[in-house]
Amino acid sequence: MTTHDTSAEPRLLGSADVRRLAADLGLRPTKTLGQNFVIDPNTVRRIVRTAGVDTDDVVVEVGPGLGSLTLALLPQVARVVAVEIDANLAAALPGTVADYAPGLHHRLDVVHADALRVLELPGPPPSALVANLPYNVAVPVLLHLLEILPNLRHALVMVQKEVADRLAAGPGSRTYGVPSVKAAWYADVRPAGAVGRTVFWPVPNVDSGLVLLKRREAPVGAARADVFAVVDAAFAQRRKTLRGALSGWAGSAAEAERILRAAQVDPAARGEQLAVGDFVRIAAARQRDR
Ligand code: SAM
Repeated sequence: MTTHDTSAEPRLLGSADVRRLAADLGLRPTKTLGQNFVIDPNTVRRIVRTAGVDTDDVVVEVGPGLGSLTLALLPQVARVVAVEIDANLAAALPGTVADYAPGLHHRLDVVHADALRVLELPGPPPSALVANLPYNVAVPVLLHLLEILPNLRHALVMVQKEVADRLAAGPGSRTYGVPSVKAAWYADVRPAGAVGRTVFWPVPNVDSGLVLLKRREAPVGAARADVFAVVDAAFAQRRKTLRGALSGWAGSAAEAERILRAAQVDPAARGEQLAVGDFVRIAAARQRDR
């Protein structure tokens, strides 16, 4: 394990810091970009602790905002690559880090970009994702990064509580759906705690939750895109049996039934009852017969 000098502990951002930094930038937080900034040092400490990062980790942080979480990460990890869509916030972050965490600024790389569109990041490949994700694009951002960053071994994300429940849900549960299955393709996913509204400025109108992901071997037997196409079709009409829901995907209900039987899945079952491995078998059964 590499050792780093962590003697220069950073100051973390409290409510007054966040408001002053925002005022200095003339920032008016927007809902569209999910701009709710953490004003509570205990929350960012908790996120970093729960993430289980160590000094070997290269961390990608999506949406560093004013730097609340970035400052808590820097002493604990080798590097932080922070991807921020807001040009003013991206430009201001290095200065904030120099002020609040002198001596640690060399561990930070700021990338001004839309995290949904990045295809590569500067420096060594990230091993961890730690982020308070912008809530309206949380799931696509998470899935996109898991796809483009194969070295990402673990992730701790803060998302809207409802999304946290969906991501971590298992088959048969009411909240199980497309995000649950797709996340399970990449990782073991589990809930890692709730976060109240008052730790943010501005205060959002939803509660938040932490989700921990540990990458696992991708399932074998079918390509990811083929499996995800089955998942999308199965949940597009989640009240229907798979025979009906997959009829468009398969070409007809009879063909859907034939593929489902070949995959040893009950055609009368619904998508919400299937684990990721079942979806893999369905995609594989169709490929086999082509
Ligand atoms: N990490 C900071 C914190 O905890 O205080 C800010 C989190 S705030 C919930 C979300 C951040 O993501 C904002 O800074 C916003 O500008 C940024 N953001 C929104 N959409 C983005 C995207 N598509 N790519 C990168 N950053 C984005």
